[in-house]
Amino acid sequence: MQLLSLTLDGFKSFAQKTTIKFEPGMTGIIGPNGSGKSNIIEAIRWVMGEQSARHLRGDKMADVIFNGAADRQPLNRALVSITLDNSDHYLASDFRELTITRKLYRNGDSEYLINGRKVRLKDITDLFIDSGLGRESFSIISQGRVAAVFNGKPVDRRGIIETVAGVAKYKQNKETAEKR
Ligand code: ATP
Ligand code: MG
Repeated sequence: MQLLSLTLDGFKSFAQKTTIKFEPGMTGIIGPNGSGKSNIIEAIRWVMGEQSARHLRGDKMADVIFNGAADRQPLNRALVSITLDNSDHYLASDFRELTITRKLYRNGDSEYLINGRKVRLKDITDLFIDSGLGRESFSIISQGRVAAVFNGKPVDRRGIIETVAGVAKYKQNKETAEKR
């Protein structure tokens, strides 16, 4: 599985539709302070289903929508897409290539799509749940997270171990079943 490309359109500082293509191997993103490096990482987090505005350095989810600049009006919608090469079927999907899209409008409407088809948030979460990616995973370590892990309460640390060990999925399924 490989990240092939990322498109940001109206997401945070990316007012203009921007597509980044990733080559095999390691990619580094460099740029001056405030140029949008962290926003790129947050876009990846967001499209994989992040539900916490705080994890995206905002107060409310609409804060991810471009909110204007000196020479540019605010936008009404944020869109992020990632395209993954899934020819090894690392993610539980028959598709060899997966494009996942998330949209959010200022009125609160939101949409998730897999290869152009509307899906539920749960479908996105399920797609990533056992992959080591996704919103609850540790594939993205933000500033301050390392300290939070080591200084965390034992019960929180156990949660991390359960996620890494792949137990979290079964716990989540159990909780869902119990709610029914
Ligand atoms: P550093 O090197 O300091 O970590 P960075 O390259 O990671 O910087 P980011 O934090 O990604 O920079 O980008 C911050 C910029 O994004 C700020 O200028 C901020 O105003 C802008 N920004 C964040 N949210 C929005 C938004 N909703 N609309 C417009 N601009 C936004
Ligand atoms: Mg940064």
